Amino acid sequence: MKIIDRLREDRIHISFEIFPPKTDEGFDKVITAVDEMAKLEPAFISVTYGAGGGTSKNTARIASHIKDELHVLSLAHLTCASSTKDEVREVIGNLKSLGIENILALRGDIPADTVFPDEKRFRYASELVREIKKYGDFCIGAACYPEGHVENEHKADDIRYLKQKVDSGVDFLTTQMFFDNDIHYNFLYHIREAGITVPVLPGIMPITSASQMKRSQELSGTVFPRRFLAILDRFGSSPAAMRQAGIAYATDQIIDLLANGVKNIHIYTMNKPDVAEAIMNNLCEIIKA
Ligand SMILES: Cc1cc2nc3c(=O)[nH]c(=O)nc-3n(C[C@H](O)[C@H](O)[C@H](O)COP(=O)(O)OP(=O)(O)OC[C@H]3O[C@@H](n4cnc5c(N)ncnc54)[C@H](O)[C@@H]3O)c2cc1C
Repeated sequence: MKIIDRLREDRIHISFEIFPPKTDEGFDKVITAVDEMAKLEPAFISVTYGAGGGTSKNTARIASHIKDELHVLSLAHLTCASSTKDEVREVIGNLKSLGIENILALRGDIPADTVFPDEKRFRYASELVREIKKYGDFCIGAACYPEGHVENEHKADDIRYLKQKVDSGVDFLTTQMFFDNDIHYNFLYHIREAGITVPVLPGIMPITSASQMKRSQELSGTVFPRRFLAILDRFGSSPAAMRQAGIAYATDQIIDLLANGVKNIHIYTMNKPDVAEAIMNNLCEIIKA
């Protein structure tokens, strides 16, 4: 089944994310985590993609396991900046042969040791989307950035390029993490005004430790609101308290989104089924209302 068909249903959908192990040794641990997450009945589970090596191979393996063994929709991420066009084509062919129907098409970060752009590689995610479309009937998702992509000084350019990307054949968008819902509402207003009509899944990252916050900020350049910084300041040095407060903060963000009419939400569960479960427990009556 295609994710876009699920998103069109008139009900609330919560999806999760898992990242593959860096080495084959960690594979079983990730499978155990994903098996636990599947019991929470997410709308789909997405599997991130790393640059080259075991990580990229494992994305397809884990996405297959989710679909075939757990009978949950899977979304395989695919990046193109770190691979040649031929390597990317091979991965798309492999996903197709495994019967994976949903791909999140991404450029990925540009590897430090690579000349980029380079005619052997796809330059933007929109080029990758066009390539995937040649392989037939995939449902294609893509990324968007409520606070703007770090490489773009001007938000207006970001939205213009996002519109081009969606027009190249994107069925839905998932946002970068954000911690202030007003930023998301403002972004939605501007992209709808720009004529982007596809479903947008806000990406919610439960921050359960001070070190995770630091990594998230480095990765996304996101702004942490004063309310979040106060939590970190007070509870950051107490792991159990920070975990509880981080789960409560993410839950609160999700409840506000749902109360404001958002139907589809993606949680960056980061291989932590216990965190996914705690949030789903907090929402158990809310998602039925
Ligand atoms: C939901 C989500 C999931 C992610 N999953 C992964 C993952 O699994 N693995 C991973 O490595 N990374 C992942 N990332 C990170 C992502 O790869 C990086 O943010 C990357 O820097 C941009 O990827 P993109 O697909 O958004 O790129 P693009 O859409 O290609 O945009 C990249 C930049 O180019 C600009 N641009 C686009 N088109 C044009 C144009 N025609 N002319 C000029 N400028 C243009 C954009 O505005 C932007 O600044 C994810 C990000 C998100 C939000």
